[in-house]
Amino acid sequence: MGYQIDKSDEQWRLELEPQEFAVLRRAGTERAWTGELLDEHRAGVYRCRACSAELFRSDAKFDSHCGWPSFFTPLAGDAVIERTDTSLGMTRTEVVCARCGSHLGHVFDDAPSTPTGQRYCMNSVSLTFEPAEA
Ligand SMILES: [Zn+2]
Repeated sequence: MGYQIDKSDEQWRLELEPQEFAVLRRAGTERAWTGELLDEHRAGVYRCRACSAELFRSDAKFDSHCGWPSFFTPLAGDAVIERTDTSLGMTRTEVVCARCGSHLGHVFDDAPSTPTGQRYCMNSVSLTFEPAEA
């Protein structure tokens, strides 16, 4: 399947830090409560760290107490692709960047307090935060 941004592992390795590569390109997961964006509460936009596509807005971020930055909806329905992930003996829904196919995290429908009921549980290292102009 082709993504708009399609690079080889060698190229990604050159452009990304080792931990970013492990999560974005190898579907790794950062340790809970360690992500730098967990306590980011400023207004702004969250972009894919691999390709800079806009993925989430701060007004959809909520405090899920799960240890990873969480959003109740992506910026637009086509900003991310959701696919079934059966790794680790579980059936989960993986979320990847629609532009470059990089792994972002998983989505769960266990957030009844949000407008969508969904919790997009993202890795901080998969995202970069861009504060809105003050
Ligand atoms: Zn991307």
